[in-house]
Amino acid sequence: MKQFLDNIFSLFYPRLCVGCGNALRQNEELLCTHCLLHLPETHYHQQQEHPLRNIFAGRVPVREVASLMFYNKGSIVQQILHHLKYKGKKEVGRYLGQYYGQQLRQEARFRSVDYILPIPLHPRKQRKRGYNQSEWIAKGLSEGLGKPYLTDVLVRTHFTDTQTKKNRFNRWENVKEVFAVQNPEKIRYKHVLVCDDVLTTGATMEAAIQHLIEVEGVTVSVVTLATASH
Ligand SMILES: [Zn+2]
Repeated sequence: MKQFLDNIFSLFYPRLCVGCGNALRQNEELLCTHCLLHLPETHYHQQQEHPLRNIFAGRVPVREVASLMFYNKGSIVQQILHHLKYKGKKEVGRYLGQYYGQQLRQEARFRSVDYILPIPLHPRKQRKRGYNQSEWIAKGLSEGLGKPYLTDVLVRTHFTDTQTKKNRFNRWENVKEVFAVQNPEKIRYKHVLVCDDVLTTGATMEAAIQHLIEVEGVTVSVVTLATASH
């Protein structure tokens, strides 16, 4: 009976794939099989040399950098991230985080991670959105990689205006002071994996890492669901 009602319901309110927008089949969740099989994966985590490797060179020390997918305008990845950030589809962050965590677990250099730290949203923004998408990615990464995530270490301090119309220099100025580290003893001499949804210039990530590396003996690595710099 429930099955029957579900079918009737989905006839009028089909669940849609967050990648391509097509109706999902009964056995599909969030992403359709076609999109799942065609994710533009970078496989950077398996490579010694790749374009992201030097993104933080001369800026902050980072041990490993990797990103699950290539980000292109108009692509399914753009759609996925849009749903994750603005359409309440936080579960897709967890789903892809878990998927990626399982892959990272195969690589020794990611197995040495002690904690996963999501890039925090400003509390005001988080209240408006209802959740922090990076935290959902961290949740998934944690499940896939088998390492805990912490939300009480890397925190936001000041609110910043939207960054879109600013150049790179100003953008950095804009985000420089927004992060802080609490409970530094938790990550002393630990390898932390900072995660976010997308890596573009790396300015936000850099600002966060500036604070993390002030903690004694800490090693920082970075992963995101997507990268726009390739
Ligand atoms: Zn799809």
